[in-house]
Order: sequence, then C-alpha cells, then structure tokens
Amino acid sequence: MSKIAMTTPLVEMDGDEMTRILWKMIKDELLTPYIDLKTEYYDLGLEHRNETDDQVTKDSAEATKKYGVAVKCATITPNAARVEEYKLKEMWKSPNGTIRSMLDGTVFRTPIIVKGIEPCVRNWEKPITLARHAYGDVYKNVEIAADGPGKAELVFTAADGTETRKTIQEFDGPGVIQGVHNTKKSIESFARACFNYALDTKQELWFATKDTISKTYDHTFKDIFQEIFDTEYKEKFDAAGNTYFYTLIDDAVARVMKAKGGFIWACKNYDGDVMSDMVSSAFGSLAMMTSVLVSPSGVYEYEAAHGTVQRHYYKHLAGEETSTNSVATIFAWTGALRKRGELDGNAELSAFADKLEKATIATIESGRMTKDLALITKLENVQVQNSEGFIKEIKKTLEAM
Ligand code: NAP
Ligand code: MG
Repeated sequence: MSKIAMTTPLVEMDGDEMTRILWKMIKDELLTPYIDLKTEYYDLGLEHRNETDDQVTKDSAEATKKYGVAVKCATITPNAARVEEYKLKEMWKSPNGTIRSMLDGTVFRTPIIVKGIEPCVRNWEKPITLARHAYGDVYKNVEIAADGPGKAELVFTAADGTETRKTIQEFDGPGVIQGVHNTKKSIESFARACFNYALDTKQELWFATKDTISKTYDHTFKDIFQEIFDTEYKEKFDAAGNTYFYTLIDDAVARVMKAKGGFIWACKNYDGDVMSDMVSSAFGSLAMMTSVLVSPSGVYEYEAAHGTVQRHYYKHLAGEETSTNSVATIFAWTGALRKRGELDGNAELSAFADKLEKATIATIESGRMTKDLALITKLENVQVQNSEGFIKEIKKTLEAM
C-alpha cells in the first residue's frame, strides 16, 4: 500500500517528559507507516529551549505563521525546581504563552466523547467547546491594599494630557482596590477568532458577560462582538444556517447545565479559566481534552490540554510500566493533519485523520484503554493497557478498518 503524500509540511513542536515518549510512539506506530509525513521539526524540549535561549520557541511560532498549521507536544513551563533540575540559564517563559502572544490567538478546548465514559451532566450528549479570551482583565491587574481611611480614584490621562477622574470609594477604614484593563484590539481578535471557529466547525457560538452590572467594561465586550458580527459575519452565519447568541453570564451557566452540547462557549478570561476546568472535569478527564490555538489571521496550532505527565515520566525513567493516555496527543495530530488536508485540498490526508480518530474511539469502546479511563468507565470487560500497548491496540483497530 502506498503512503499518503503531503504537499505542505506541518510545523512539529516536540516537547517534554512522558508526552515526548508518547509523541515518538504515535509517530512510529500510527503515522509514518501510513503517511509520507512532511514536518518542519522544532525541538521545544526544555534542554533545547535552554541551549537556544528559547529562540527555538519563537522560530516555531514564526514557522506556524508561514505554514498555517502546527502540532505541539506538551512542554514544561519552568519554575524554580525545574531551573535546578535542568540547570537552566534562566527561568524561560511558558512556550504556550510565547506562541499565543506571537500568534495573537484564542484557545478552543473540546472534550473527546466516548461511549462508556459518560459526562457527569446527563444531558450533555455532544461536546461543549470552551473559547477563553487569553488577554487582560484580572490577569493583568494592579492592586492596592488600603490599610486605613482614604479616597480611591480611577484616573485616565489621555495622550494629550486630558484627565478623566472618578471616585471608586471613600474608605472610612481599611479595604482593597483593584484596577483591570483590556484593549479593543485584543477583544476584536478574540471575537473574530470565535466567529471564524464557529463557521469552521459548524457550531453555534454563545458569548456571555456581566454587562448589566459592568455597563462600560463588559458592555464594551458585548458591543464589539455584536458590531463585528453584524458587519463581517452575519451573512456568512445566515448562509451556513448558524447562529450567534449573546446572554448574561449567569444565564449562560444555567443554560449550559441544561443544554445538549454541540456549541462553542466564548468566555472572558476569568470565566474561561474557571468554566473550562468545570466543563473538562465534568466531561471525564484532562487526558481526553483537545486544545487548538486559532489566530485571527487563520493560523492553527493543535495540542493536548494536559501537561507533560511528570509523575508517569519518573516512573518510566525508573523502569516501571506506565499507563499514560495518548488520546489527546493523537487528536492533536489528527486535528493538524485534517486541517492541513483541508488547506491543501488533500482529501486523503483528512480522511486518514478521521479514520485514526474513529480507530482510537473504537478501541476504547471495545474495552481496551489506559488506567485513567478504566477507573471511570461504565464499560465491563475492560482490558487495561500500558502506554505502548494502548497505541498498538489502536493500530490493530486501524489496520482492521
Ligand atoms: P499534567 O501533566 O497535566 O498531569 C497531572 C496529572 O493528571 C498526572 O499526574 C496524571 O494523574 C493526570 N494526567 C494528565 N494527563 C494524563 C494522561 N495523558 N494520561 C494519564 N493521566 C494523565 O500536569 P503536571 O504533572 O502538573 O505538570 C507537568 C508539567 O506539564 C509541568 O512542568 C507543567 O509546566 C507542564 N504543563 C504543560 C502544559 C502544556 O504544554 N500545554 C499544560 C499544563 C502543564 P496521576 O498522576 O493521578 O496518574
Ligand atoms: Mg484554571
């Protein structure tokens, strides 16, 4: 059987620890035997980031802008312990943060649904994709603890020197004060990324803020979304039979709990932080959550939502058997290959991606799965697989298909 050809390379960002081990197994067992895999390889493993003074991360983001599609393995974000462990020249920044700011992107997270791994919310039949705005608000705040009576004011000095001043509070005792901001540019990028992704994946888009209470700040988010929708997207949504729906954040939360799923929920930064953890844990497992960064210019970077699974890696290094779930990493590859296929008009490549996803799901539904899923499944006759064994079982299913 001849291998599937590729015309344009994928940007391949290798990573760290257990996910780096899975990365190689996935390529060797599930990809290169079937695809004449063309990638431009960037080693984002912490050692190589350190050797290149993190230039490799920036280069990989530039390559993503050039080629349009990347697939990324989980990477270590260094902390003090990692600086010591890897003898780092400095505490390099989070690669995801660097890539996100260079691509100006929005992250969409979607659970992978499998029969036998049921969501805690009974009525969720389809995935709920969470889109989190990744700039500003409380994540770029300025805070003061007032230790006694006094006056807190909000002052904006325009470039021409004009001042706008408002009293926040006249304190008659100790209190706390917080200043937050966002930019029109960032909110516009967020809105476009959400509308594009909704059209791309043919799903409804929901957006919610607290505009009734925050009549300027949150209302600006609502207005920007509505204006961009009306002027740039309404016709496309109408033509696709798709809808954009705005509501209050508390109403959105209530509706999500009663919904069937199958839509994109766009959230402001804090709401997205909190709600993505709720949605992902309610759907079952972090190891079953995919993530894609979409830039407003239409560039895509696919990855798993989980980290490098450090604890399993140390077991692996100690020569012990591991049972690490590779599903989200496999789906990062299939997401990237399918998108590459779509952009290049390479139907065979997209079809292979679909088939590999089906084989992965069918393998789990047949009872062959890693330990994390075995612990939560309702299926009987479960055969727990080790890390490599699970990938080999998927290969068997794929071959049979
Ligand atoms: P983690 O890698 O997400 O793993 C946390 C725990 O979740 C694991 O110990 C394991 O639980 C379970 N788990 C996660 N993924 C799993 C999988 N595929 N299969 C089976 N179980 C899985 O988080 P972490 O260990 O806290 O972080 C490790 C490193 O990852 C850190 O250096 C962090 O900086 C990095 N990180 C990177 C990314 C990214 O690149 N996108 C995201 C998050 C974290 P049990 O131990 O109970 O089996
Ligand atoms: Mg969080």
